[in-house]
Amino acid sequence: MRIVVLTGGIGGARFLLGVRAHARDIGADVTAIVNVGDDVRMHGLQICPDLDSVMYTLGGAADPERGWGRVGESWVVKEELAKYGVEPSWFGLGDKDTATHLVRTTMLNAGYPLSAVTAALCERWQPGIEMIPASDDRLETHVVVDVDGERKAIHFQEWWVRHRGEVPTHRFVFRGAESAKPAAGVLEAIAGADVVLVAPSNPVVSIAPILAVPALKDAVSNGPAPVVGISPIIGGAPVRGMADKCLATLDVEVSAAGVGRMYGPRAEGGLLDGWLVDTSDAAAQVPGVRTRAVPLWMKDETLTARMVADALELAR
Ligand code: GDP
Ligand code: CA
Repeated sequence: MRIVVLTGGIGGARFLLGVRAHARDIGADVTAIVNVGDDVRMHGLQICPDLDSVMYTLGGAADPERGWGRVGESWVVKEELAKYGVEPSWFGLGDKDTATHLVRTTMLNAGYPLSAVTAALCERWQPGIEMIPASDDRLETHVVVDVDGERKAIHFQEWWVRHRGEVPTHRFVFRGAESAKPAAGVLEAIAGADVVLVAPSNPVVSIAPILAVPALKDAVSNGPAPVVGISPIIGGAPVRGMADKCLATLDVEVSAAGVGRMYGPRAEGGLLDGWLVDTSDAAAQVPGVRTRAVPLWMKDETLTARMVADALELAR
């Protein structure tokens, strides 16, 4: 069996721990197609937050408390940059993490596509699944905001890390998406999949930028494999993170049903055949989509693997 997962960073990475565990039990192959909209160049380094969250988490090297970056991290480079007074000073750049960005940027500068760079980095981390960026082309999520009385588009990282999402926000723009092509291996993975799972990742800034790549969206919506999503919203709130702020910007109700309706039924050009919601949201209705309520708290790998088994069951 071949399982494809569309995923963002931290929430998606936790989900993938469960996917990997269940896949080992049933002898399935897993391919994660990872959001690149958060990617940004800072201090000359190409930083891929969601790819790194997935890689470090599955490689057993993520910091469980902070949620992102490496466990046992130190911050000498960041402190030294601050002493030079160079911006951006608000971005967390760990020393161990910096080595990853140096390897990545060197390979990109030498002409390797991001998908090949990611595969090379994964030789060290052995995530146990195949990881592919959604696109090898430049695709960045920008946010149209009002700052200091001026309307402008800022990078998603600046919106979230610097402003904590607490500035008047008008919309999200996926720069470069219209002309972006799926990365090497993405279309083959989708065409060969027995099921596509949409991780309980942020629907607006993790899943939407993946689907903003036209040929990728087309392959998922019109492909042979059933698509089952897992709600990142439980009882009207995101478990962690800023999905509520993002959904509010789009005027989408912050609920399992609201996100399910936003994704929409695949039969009508949307994304989903099935939608897993938490038991506390059992009343959620999404017209045209098979909905099932099971526990969706990813408290540990065993519970998450159970969730994955439920998603595969719904796909059948
Ligand atoms: P990011 O890219 O690092 O922001 O991470 P993702 O987009 O992959 O995941 C963020 C989402 O994960 C948030 O919207 C949370 O609601 C969701 N999430 C985190 N923990 C859980 C959990 O235990 N259960 C469910 N259902 N969703 C979760
Ligand atoms: Ca992210």
